[in-house]
Amino acid sequence: MKKVNAFSERITAWYDLHGRKTLPWQINKTPYRVWISEIMLQQTQVATVIPYYEKFMHSFPDIKALANASEDDVLHHWTGLGYYARARNLHKAAKTVCEQHEAKFPESLDEVIALPGIGRSTAGAILSLSLGQHHSILDGNVKRVLARHGAIEGWPGQKAVEQQLWQLTDQLTPQKDVVKFNQAMMDIGSGVCTRSKPNCAQCPVAIDCKAQLAGRQTEFPGKKPKKTIPAKSAWMLVLHKDGEVILNKRPPAGIWGGLWCFPQFDTEAALLEHISANGFNRSSNEYGAAKESNNQDLQWLAGFRHTFSHFHLDIQPILVNIGENQQSPQIDSSVMEQNQTLWYNIHHPAKVGLAAATERILSNLAALLAVDPVKESL
Ligand code: SF4
Repeated sequence: MKKVNAFSERITAWYDLHGRKTLPWQINKTPYRVWISEIMLQQTQVATVIPYYEKFMHSFPDIKALANASEDDVLHHWTGLGYYARARNLHKAAKTVCEQHEAKFPESLDEVIALPGIGRSTAGAILSLSLGQHHSILDGNVKRVLARHGAIEGWPGQKAVEQQLWQLTDQLTPQKDVVKFNQAMMDIGSGVCTRSKPNCAQCPVAIDCKAQLAGRQTEFPGKKPKKTIPAKSAWMLVLHKDGEVILNKRPPAGIWGGLWCFPQFDTEAALLEHISANGFNRSSNEYGAAKESNNQDLQWLAGFRHTFSHFHLDIQPILVNIGENQQSPQIDSSVMEQNQTLWYNIHHPAKVGLAAATERILSNLAALLAVDPVKESL
């Protein structure tokens, strides 16, 4: 019978031939540079991350630059990447490193795990990839390869299944070539052992992969038990005057924390009451009637659904055009932070972090006004 090399030997040999070696964070590797890449790569594809990473590194080339930046500036660099808690945690962690570690990224696993937003796998990846320290990793890609190779039943979100996968990765991670091994496992997970169409013919560990041998590849890892999530509704006020709209900053905690959003109301009536009571001459009933005609100064824009992990939010934006000589009304809807209001110019966008829903409404509005905010901001 043909001898099969150790799992790790086949993985590292594959890396020599096919692994990625020239990604921006693989050049001039430092813990800081690898840390930023690892956080950006959580939930986001490499191709999407690259331009964000390069722009981020240009603006914040080291940990001090990141710590000294304003939160708005950091969130602005994250706009479009989603999962904004990652950016807020990066910023907090950079400040912690400056305060507690004299601006030098810590080099022990426990100290790295103690920083905001860094779990055991990310800490292991940062220290192994940048400094060659011996740590195993278990991100989503590695979990998929190992769950399939060993036909590990169950959803990895369950403690017992996760522990089993940690034991496996600890056993399989070699003393030698840990950098190659960890990088290769991530590459194989994202490019070969993909979620829906694993390319087993190109996989270095296919010969003893239990899922492949049983033809059950897509059954692993086990799926998260389905739960239905509730739907809520929100009405967003798009107050527009001369190419500018009012945005409010969200409080730091809660959804879209620290990001800029349109003033939000729980009911359509509350929004109409609000504008009626704040500087407009018409009554809310008259505004209600205007819905039917969808006239120039009051328009119901295209509604859409935004899904968070624990609920759907059905959003209806309502555009109110303020006339030339009309005074701008005061805006203080209940979900916004006091005194954090900005007239956001669509032609010359301010460098602030925008919630995904804000971006979508801005882009619809720009199309309506025949202005392309992306082009304008270049
Ligand atoms: S053989 Fe197929 S299922 Fe098994 S680890 Fe490789 S790509 Fe994944």
